[in-house]
Amino acid sequence: MASALSAAEQTATGAGPGIHGRLDFLWLELTNRCNLRCVHCYTDSHPHAGDRDILALDDYLSLLRQAFDLGCRKVQLIGGEPQLNRDFFRILEAAVDMGFEFIEVFTNLTHLDETTLRYSAEHGIHFATSVYSAEPAEHDAITGVRTSHARTTSNLRRLIDQGIETRAAVIALDQEAPSIVRTKRYLKDMGVPEVRHSEVREFGRGQNILDREANLQGLCGHCWSGKLCIAPDGDAYPCVMARHWPVGNVREASLAEIVGGMGLKDMRQEIYTSVWLPKLEDYRARQSLQNGIHAKACMPGSSPPDTDPGEKNPDGTDNPDPEECPQSCVPTDGKTCGPHACPQSCTPFIVVCEPTGDE
Ligand code: SF4
Repeated sequence: MASALSAAEQTATGAGPGIHGRLDFLWLELTNRCNLRCVHCYTDSHPHAGDRDILALDDYLSLLRQAFDLGCRKVQLIGGEPQLNRDFFRILEAAVDMGFEFIEVFTNLTHLDETTLRYSAEHGIHFATSVYSAEPAEHDAITGVRTSHARTTSNLRRLIDQGIETRAAVIALDQEAPSIVRTKRYLKDMGVPEVRHSEVREFGRGQNILDREANLQGLCGHCWSGKLCIAPDGDAYPCVMARHWPVGNVREASLAEIVGGMGLKDMRQEIYTSVWLPKLEDYRARQSLQNGIHAKACMPGSSPPDTDPGEKNPDGTDNPDPEECPQSCVPTDGKTCGPHACPQSCTPFIVVCEPTGDE
């Protein structure tokens, strides 16, 4: 099927110019273990899921150095629950010392020690988490651990009190839409500046929830654009969710070899062609149906729409619910010239910019 995108838009979003061999954003999974047991967990994490935890401190330090040398300046420490890695703080310090410009910890926040809190405030560390409900019982039913809501929200408040950048995702499971709206308001009232909702995807335990096998179409599609995930056993994936499509292992190859390899190149192209472009075209079609409301709201330089699921747009049309990014993607400003400039939980942006000319 011919693409409905203009040539300039294809260039701006295309998998071609400049993307092969690039590493802009690295997810480092510090463990596959987690003290929670969320029903939908895409990494299938739980307290005894450490059999894949093979990488040691030196491996993580080497990966940070290799990524930095490849030009990567954004890293997210994630898991499982990353703070369960006994070397978590040393890895965090190393990322700061090396000069990464954006460092985020994606954590369930059931635990946060004073040292990490103080250090994060002093060094501009970002934190991201998931909160499933404003109601403790509803949240705890999803995480499988009583008191998890109390601990997560209490530590979220400690971060906010220290002026630390936070964001939170509300994952839609079987909560009613009003519950999701209430949870988003609850988090915003708490002072979380960036609150998104997202959906369960058919990976890990999400497959049971959705009764679907993992498939490429379950990805949001953003990950073709210069991202890479390293799991605790060294496996490399295009995205934290893309666990069925490994593109190498850092115990067998350098990061440069993986980033420049044909495995990653082919996967990025596949994701771009079969997930990203159709989604982008669908988004454009929905934009035109919305009398320009979301087109205006989502254009570069402005904020993504902030309506809640099920709410009406100002012109009375239904909100198409454009937020469908996985919880772990890094936010961008929506203006940066490049192959994608998507805020972390919004449908694709189109940022038209000059071709880079490099291939
Ligand atoms: S979703 Fe996150 S917090 Fe929940 S079990 Fe998985 S890794 Fe842990």
